Amino acid sequence: MRVTSEPWPAGDWRRLLAEAVGDADELLALLGLDGRVRSATPAGGRRFPLRVPRGFVARMRRGDPADPLLRQVLPLAEEDVPAPGFSADPLGELAAPPVAGVLHKYEGRALVVATGACAVHCRYCFRRHFPYAEHHAPGGGWQATLDRIAADPGIAELILSGGDPLTLSDARLAELARAADRLPQLRRFRVHTRLPIVLPQRVDETLVEWLRAMELPTVVVVHANHANEIDDDVRRALAALRATGASLLNQSVLLAGVNDSAAALAGLSETLLDAGVLPYYLHMLDPVAGSAHFAVAESRAAGLVRELAARLPGYLVPRLVREVAGAPSKLAVDLEV
Ligand SMILES: *Cc1c(COP(=O)(O)O)cnc(C)c1O
Ligand code: SF4
Repeated sequence: MRVTSEPWPAGDWRRLLAEAVGDADELLALLGLDGRVRSATPAGGRRFPLRVPRGFVARMRRGDPADPLLRQVLPLAEEDVPAPGFSADPLGELAAPPVAGVLHKYEGRALVVATGACAVHCRYCFRRHFPYAEHHAPGGGWQATLDRIAADPGIAELILSGGDPLTLSDARLAELARAADRLPQLRRFRVHTRLPIVLPQRVDETLVEWLRAMELPTVVVVHANHANEIDDDVRRALAALRATGASLLNQSVLLAGVNDSAAALAGLSETLLDAGVLPYYLHMLDPVAGSAHFAVAESRAAGLVRELAARLPGYLVPRLVREVAGAPSKLAVDLEV
């Protein structure tokens, strides 16, 4: 499979982002599912509305209410059913709100919550109740954030996270990238983004230009949960990212009804590798209110990853991890349980 590594034309992604589907009835009609799926309008769907770019919808199977991509974005009535152990703030971020855009969550790494915006609203998102708007980096510039990082010589890696940082303008991102290159203690620059998957046109000429110009080694961690998310448009975006010299990794969330089979996980790993991306993490679902219908028990998750490890080379087996509030790192799930 040969795909061009030319980036997409500059700026088209903004129009495509503005044209994203925001209405469940429209989404179901596009898929020929009107009348066949109860178009739920749960309270959670109003606070965290449906949002999905049309190119992602085009990768869903028409007429299949169980499509694994549809399930990730369609608000269901199940979201309103309270579940024990599932809360609005499973990671305790609201109790200890991050200061002005910088979350010092991990040793040696500064995680910058750059923006609250996402191109897609994933129903399982652990931050679906998080008031990003109050915590994102100040609109005027990055100086305060950079000063805070510069003051801590222990920080070797700057991680841009969100929301989705690639919804920011390239002017702002390029400014941060240049400033990061000038911070002597930094060794790596990392971006966590789902945009190359859900809106591949975001990997345009302008983005590629500043990324390629960076001196720091860069790592781009994308987020795909199922092989069907990766079509030729996405392959082109990933090839263009790779052509900048960036290392590409993927993180996924283990989701019931989406990728909770060894076959689905193996298909994802192999499709990622074909597109130049190595699997990194497979996250256990964070117990966020409204997402209990995606939960996979830990013993079952461990079994799936054991099965995956038996089928695939080790470098195609993601690390099964869960996030624990206050822990210094993600915790590996014991595969022997
Ligand atoms: C866990 C996490 C990190 C850092 O973890 P690594 O183990 O260094 O990859 C960074 N950003 C986000 C959003 C995370 O969830
Ligand atoms: S792209 Fe990431 S941050 Fe945005 S809604 Fe999906 S899981 Fe949440």
